[in-house]
Amino acid sequence: MEDPICFDIWVKIERGHTAEAVAWVADLRPLLSALEVRKLINDATMRGEWALVAQSVGWSRVSELRATKPAWSGEMRVCQEMYRPDAPLGPFYNYCKRHQLYFGGCLGCHVCSGFVVR
Ligand SMILES: [Zn+2]
Repeated sequence: MEDPICFDIWVKIERGHTAEAVAWVADLRPLLSALEVRKLINDATMRGEWALVAQSVGWSRVSELRATKPAWSGEMRVCQEMYRPDAPLGPFYNYCKRHQLYFGGCLGCHVCSGFVVR
């Protein structure tokens, strides 16, 4: 039996908001060092990449973070843990419109089926 699913939250961070982004992510990912947070934000802003702002969180935390997303931050994508927001969709990587969730596997959305960490 597999464990219930957790989620990763990715955000696009535009240039000009580095200081706010560093403070926000440092708060959301307390296990990262200050240097690691700076590198993550710099890589995301300079290369236009997705920043992993919260890792391995439950579905209630996803709702919370969606509701409190800072106004200066760009698009947010929620993925099943360990999946990337920019991977191509296919038979084993899908998107649930109802839950705005990118998920892996061929059995359908894990939130729809309820097999998630709340
Ligand atoms: Zn769903």
